[in-house]
Amino acid sequence: MSVVLVTGGSRGIGRAIVEEFADAGHQVAFTYAGSRDAAESLRDRALPVQADVRDFARAQEVVAEVETALGPLDVLINNAGIKRDGALYSMAEDAWRDVIETNLNGTFNYCRAVTRNLIRRKGAIINITSVSGITGMAGQTNYSASKAGIIGLTKALAREVARFGVRVNAIAPGFIDTDMTSAMDENVRKKLYAQIPMGEPGTARQIARAALYLASPDAAYITGHVLTLDGGLS
Ligand code: NAP
Repeated sequence: MSVVLVTGGSRGIGRAIVEEFADAGHQVAFTYAGSRDAAESLRDRALPVQADVRDFARAQEVVAEVETALGPLDVLINNAGIKRDGALYSMAEDAWRDVIETNLNGTFNYCRAVTRNLIRRKGAIINITSVSGITGMAGQTNYSASKAGIIGLTKALAREVARFGVRVNAIAPGFIDTDMTSAMDENVRKKLYAQIPMGEPGTARQIARAALYLASPDAAYITGHVLTLDGGLS
């Protein structure tokens, strides 16, 4: 049984990850930004902690709170993320900043807060990136840059900590049915889904199962890897 921290566990993929790890018998804590009711509805299975991933100092507090409540951390899953799509030529500066600060800086903040602890436990980090960070996606320069940055961070950190027995991997989902994708314009969504060779979007549960695998001893020799789950999209 491991102690697991998931960022952005209140909804979508993060919520499925919380449920999957809890069901597998792990002790799970998760952060959320504003969805208090959704977060509290998981309290019988996992420990909710309100925290904005953009806040560097808060990340260290969260890790200390979680370790006090559940014991030393074994696994960190950086999942919290947002998108603010639009063509670059008219992109507001704050649309660029918000996405980079949440997705990329947020991932840095939590990796930074746990890495020393994970060295003591020979733990694992899993960062949720995106196919958008591998292939690029029109209208998502901010999001693609943040997700490509996460891949670079993952590979570099994997090299830094491999000798201590800590593994760092990423999962790159394609289109997954969550609030993030349902917020898209219906026609745009249909056109995007038509490009998926397997013909349909994936599920949050499929991503959660992949995270469970990467965190498990079965994946003991996998590090610095980006696992795509995209129905063939990339
Ligand atoms: P979602 O349904 O919109 O959920 C986002 C989660 O992140 C929520 O729990 C949200 O908390 C949390 N969050 C957002 N900003 C935060 C902040 N500043 N601090 C702390 N938590 C924050 O998104 P999703 O579709 O599940 O996506 C999860 C991850 O997968 C993201 O990194 C996303 O980029 C990636 N991804 C998704 C897809 C897809 O097709 N859905 C594809 C590729 C990659 P609140 O509920 O409190 O707002």
